Amino acid sequence: MAKKIVAGNWKMNLVKDEAKALASEVVAQAKAETPSDVTLIMGVPFVHIAEVKNIIGDAENVFLAAQNCYDKPSGAYTGEISAAQLKSYGVDYVILGHSERREYFGESNEMLAAKVDAVLENDMLPIFCVGEVLEEREAGKQNEVVSKQLSESLFHLPVEDFKKVVIAYEPVWAIGTGKTASAEQAQDMHKEIRAMLTAKYGDAANDISILYGGSCKPSNANEIFAGADVDGGLIGGASLAAADFVAISKSY
Ligand code: PEP
Repeated sequence: MAKKIVAGNWKMNLVKDEAKALASEVVAQAKAETPSDVTLIMGVPFVHIAEVKNIIGDAENVFLAAQNCYDKPSGAYTGEISAAQLKSYGVDYVILGHSERREYFGESNEMLAAKVDAVLENDMLPIFCVGEVLEEREAGKQNEVVSKQLSESLFHLPVEDFKKVVIAYEPVWAIGTGKTASAEQAQDMHKEIRAMLTAKYGDAANDISILYGGSCKPSNANEIFAGADVDGGLIGGASLAAADFVAISKSY
């Protein structure tokens, strides 16, 4: 069975003291309130990784994610961060292929395949984002787009590695816009994605967590998570308020 996961994506928000305060609140509230079968993940900017790792300490159900990494192991790549460097700070998950990275930083499916490999080689778990833009949805091309993203970045993996990947379906038109996909639209796409994964990897696909992302908040998480193929959420804006983020983790 797929694990239930609620992952936060802080994006490029919060300075040091704010990040420490938010992480402390999330950990305290998650210890008291997040159901034990839910994995809670904070996806934080690189600069806050060491502090947040420290704050998470020995909390059993709270994990740490980075929001990107470079695919090369080391060397003359000024400004980049390798998977091995993230691992050395105790990072558990790495968000890859977020639509903002695809759009503003030109990350292609091919580049992302190399990043997926780097993350797995360093014993971390990728949270791999897929999703269509509005024009693609309006043209009915969402399945085609997502299928290409999955096959070009993930389907080279042997099944043992593929089982470590978390997928996040994030319709780009719903990210940060306040426009959520309906629970039905989310479940329909998640079911499609599950079928694509099953066609490639068979029953192993049933154990893959497929998260929904896009304006998910406490008031709609319950309905969205009710979908049979929705195993949790990737949360942007609402992950910046501890009470909202932890409330979402109770929305199954
Ligand atoms: C995201 O950036 O992954 C996201 C889902 O953002 P938001 O929840 O703010 O739409």
